[in-house]
Parts: sequence; C-alpha cells; structure tokens
Amino acid sequence: MSDNKSTPNPGDRVGVYFCECHSSGLCDRFDFDDLETFAHEFPQVVLIRRNPKLCGKEAIEGIKKDIKEHSLKRILVATCAPDKHLEEFRTAAVEAGLNRYLVDAVNIREQLAFIHTKDPEKARKKARDQFAMGMANLMAVKPADKVYAIVDETKCNGCEICYTVCDKDAITMIPDPYGRVSKISHPEPDKCWGCGVCVTSCPVNVMDMTVYSNAQMEAQVDTFIERMEHNMINSLVFACHWCAYPAGDAAGAEGIEIEPDFRIIRTLCSGRVNPDWVLKALSRGADGVLLMGGKPNHCHFNTGNIRTMRRMKLIKFLMEQMGLDGRRFRVEWVNPDEPYEYANIVNSFVNDLRKLGPNPLSSRESDYSSAKNKKEKISNQG
Ligand code: SF4
Ligand code: SF4
Repeated sequence: MSDNKSTPNPGDRVGVYFCECHSSGLCDRFDFDDLETFAHEFPQVVLIRRNPKLCGKEAIEGIKKDIKEHSLKRILVATCAPDKHLEEFRTAAVEAGLNRYLVDAVNIREQLAFIHTKDPEKARKKARDQFAMGMANLMAVKPADKVYAIVDETKCNGCEICYTVCDKDAITMIPDPYGRVSKISHPEPDKCWGCGVCVTSCPVNVMDMTVYSNAQMEAQVDTFIERMEHNMINSLVFACHWCAYPAGDAAGAEGIEIEPDFRIIRTLCSGRVNPDWVLKALSRGADGVLLMGGKPNHCHFNTGNIRTMRRMKLIKFLMEQMGLDGRRFRVEWVNPDEPYEYANIVNSFVNDLRKLGPNPLSSRESDYSSAKNKKEKISNQG
C-alpha cells in the first residue's frame, strides 16, 4: 500500500486496487510496478493497493474498510472482465456508503495481459493509456440510481425523434411545462433499458444518460487523443458491452494474441456511439476508429446495431470531405462467442492502418500539404 502525498478535493479521493490474480498467472504476465508508478501520477489517487485475489472475501472487506478509513469517494479496480466481479466490488462500495457507479474497472487481464504477450513495451504503454482512460471515465461519472436516458426539458424542441427511435416505448411526449413548444420528451426511467440510441439521435444534443454519460464517453475519447504518440499506430475501438467487448474477453480467455495498437472504450450499445466522437478522434490525428457491435438479430437492444449502421454511413462522407481515407473508419459485427472473429477483425484493422500510414491530419505530416490535397480533390469533384 502507498499513499499519495498530494491533496485532492475531498470529493475526488480515489482508491486504486490492482488484482494480481495469482490463480490465473496474471502476476507473471503483467508489469504491475509500472502501472502502480503511473497511478501515483494522478493527484486524485490517494490510496493504491495490490492484492493477489481482489475478488476474495477478505479483499472485498478490505475495500469497505478503506472507503471508510481513507474517506475514498471513488474506486478504480484494475482487474478481470467487468462482468466477472465488478458487481461484487460495487455492492461492497454501496455497503460502505458509496454510490455504486463511483466504482469502475479497467480490464487488465482478458483485454490486456492475456492478448498482448509478445511486445511488453507496447503492453505497458497500452496499460497506462487504458488506466488513464479509466480514470477519466471514473472522474466524470455522477452518482445515479440506474442507467437511463435523461433530457434537458428547457432545451428540448419537441421533434419526437427520440420517441420514434425508442424500441422500449420508454419515452412519452408531454406538454411543455415552460410553454416554449407544444410538447417535450419525457423518458421514463423504469421502462428505459439504457441503450442510449435516443441520446445519439437527438438532433439538438439535449439528451444524456445518467451513467455512460456524454461527459464520461468524451473524457475517454479526449484522454485517448491526449495520449497518442507519433511513433505508433493510434487506433480507437468502441465495443458494445453485450457482444463485442465480451468477444474480446473471450479472446483473452482463449489466450489469442492480438495486435496491441488499439485502445478500447466500452459502450452499452453500438447505437450509443456518437459520430462526433469518431470524427473528433480522426480529426485530431487518430489513425483509425473501429466500431464493433453485435451481429444483426443478436443486438441486446433489438435494433441498436441497425441504427448504428445507418448513422455511420454519414461518417464516411464527412471523412471524404476531410481528406481522409474511408478505410480509417470501420463498423464490424461480432458476437460474444466469437473470440477468433474478434481477433481477426482487430488484427486486420490495425494491419490495414499500418499499410495506410499515419493519418494525414496528424501533426506527423504537413498540415499544409494535407489541406492542399483536400482542396484539389474537392475542386476536381466540381
Ligand atoms: S436509452 Fe434506449 S430505452 Fe432508454 S429511452 Fe432512450 S432509446 Fe429508449
Ligand atoms: S430528440 Fe431531442 S429535441 Fe427531439 S424530442 Fe427528443 S429530446 Fe427533444
């Protein structure tokens, strides 16, 4: 255990827990010392612990004790796949007085140590990046009772798009209490299953989610952008919680080696991914963005993937206007029981980016030549 000497705001005191997972051999495959050193750089981190089995009863009781004794306000666990033990850590935190969503996880096992064994240097860099993205996500989350859509009633224009796209009939249009328009959107938390499709569809961006919020997602994208390095391929993967992300976990469980040159953001549904996030990453120099969700007829949220498919066509068009090769953005479908397919998709995407070379919009190439090429291309199109 080690204490950070800086003094964060009382509401920002973060406890970090590394599970060395001795039973799975993770301790032999992962550079915990390096990640612990890195974790100390975050001023909010006031407590770091390493445990050989964090999901054990004693360790979980220890987390509860730490929350009280060290006045921890948020917890980040660096452990295995979130569907394995995150729920137990959250339950413990609730018992110690924290809101459940102020506890989150970075998957250093299936999505990191078990799939990147051949290049320890790249694996270390990736672990730091994923940890930084995890911290950004954790610091942006707000306490919530559950995951559901919310709307800024004072800004809704009553267009009904959210109402139309909701597969759960979780949105009703109600008379505008402010008298600005005839009706406004009213999501019902009890009916909402948290897909986020309505949030991404709102044309005036007045919707959000209580958890997996815009602020959380954008914080992760921004951190990815800040941490890009010129001597590597910088690619960002959005993977849905129910299909693509578990396919990656299954790949880790199988020990399938995967190219390490990508960073991953977990979303509840592929339909939650806002085209702005994709375009932001690409316009700031990311070499590529891969969006993965479940195959048609397998989407946990019925039609979330179909809406994604339609929406993302726009991105290719905008990329063309930006002078970017359309192959830098790809949408792929994979089911949770398809680890080899997951690995093939990621590997082929990263390899294609390697062949394409650096993003011309990155500072690695002359801004002027990129802008000039773009201008010539547009004028040739008439
Ligand atoms: S998040 Fe999904 S289920 Fe909830 S209101 Fe929006 S579209 Fe409906
Ligand atoms: S899509 Fe946005 S603006 Fe339109 S009704 Fe829904 S919340 Fe209001």
